[in-house]
Amino acid sequence: MHVIVVAADQALQASISSILETRGHDVIAFADANEGLDRLGRDRELNAFIVANDKDAGAEICWEARLLSSFERPIYVCLVSPPLPSAAFIEALDCGADDVLQLPISPDELYARLRAAERLNQMQHKLLEMATRDGLTGLYNRAAFFHRAASLCGARPVVAIMTDIDHFKAINDNYGHAVGDRAIRAVADCLKSQGDIVGRLGGEEFALLLDIADATDAWRAAEGLRRMIAMQEIDLDRESVRLSCSFGVAMGQAGEDIDELLRMADAALYAAKRAGRNMVALYDPEKMAAAPRPNSIIRGTSASSTGARRAAS
Ligand code: GH3
Ligand code: MG
Ligand code: MG
Repeated sequence: MHVIVVAADQALQASISSILETRGHDVIAFADANEGLDRLGRDRELNAFIVANDKDAGAEICWEARLLSSFERPIYVCLVSPPLPSAAFIEALDCGADDVLQLPISPDELYARLRAAERLNQMQHKLLEMATRDGLTGLYNRAAFFHRAASLCGARPVVAIMTDIDHFKAINDNYGHAVGDRAIRAVADCLKSQGDIVGRLGGEEFALLLDIADATDAWRAAEGLRRMIAMQEIDLDRESVRLSCSFGVAMGQAGEDIDELLRMADAALYAAKRAGRNMVALYDPEKMAAAPRPNSIIRGTSASSTGARRAAS
């Protein structure tokens, strides 16, 4: 694991670090708890925090470390201390320590605790993946896409691209759902290669958020994807299936509401479909109402959706 060790006592710090390094754990050691916590907050690769303490502050430090942990970033927190009265032991656990180990430290016990922590860690990452990823494509699922998109949207101007496979129902009808699934995966692989945040919103509809502030660059990015997808071939026994996607592109200002931005991109996608498919349309408030297509997956997007519309001019 990637472990922070905090121990004011140099000998204790060296001893715990050496025990951990012997078994291949990466260790960064600090004498000062605040420095250790600061590093833990900045470096998301770190997944264990061990504080060895012979004073009273151990529980508080565990609490600070626990605050940096989340569902998306599990952190194993362990207090190493001289034998504690029961109340202090309970307090440390209640303050967020996963374990309280007594000094003198038993290397084998520490290894076993870290093995258990690693098992939990892996399980949590698996759960996180199952909760946030679409099983067919590995892209973000709808909820995870909106969650991530909302945070990127607030920070700076972004571009939203909505895309939908053209005449996809015909692929399913002519070649079967398994081939349809392969087509969805092929499109997803192309989108993955470009997007900063890419989600499968449902069926054969996808959304991307790109960290681009210029409309021409945004259009070019979508056009590049359109071409890449149009060159894909799904090889079957005696033939290969070609496919295409239509694209809608919308520019959002910093702080743009993600639902509104996707409605604009969806309106542009609708325009691309009506204009003949296999093309890119840029959202134009003069010509397009930022309303979802009649059967759009965007309808009632995220929980915060209020149905508000951007004025058409
Ligand atoms: P358009 O060009 O207007 O987008 O037409 P379309 O045929 O692509 O769109 P339509 O909405 O009529 O059909 C989408 C089809 O996608 C209907 C649905 O059965 C199919 N579909 C949805 N999810 C999946 C999936 O996970 N796998 C497969 N194979 N098909 C799916
Ligand atoms: Mg379609
Ligand atoms: Mg569709």
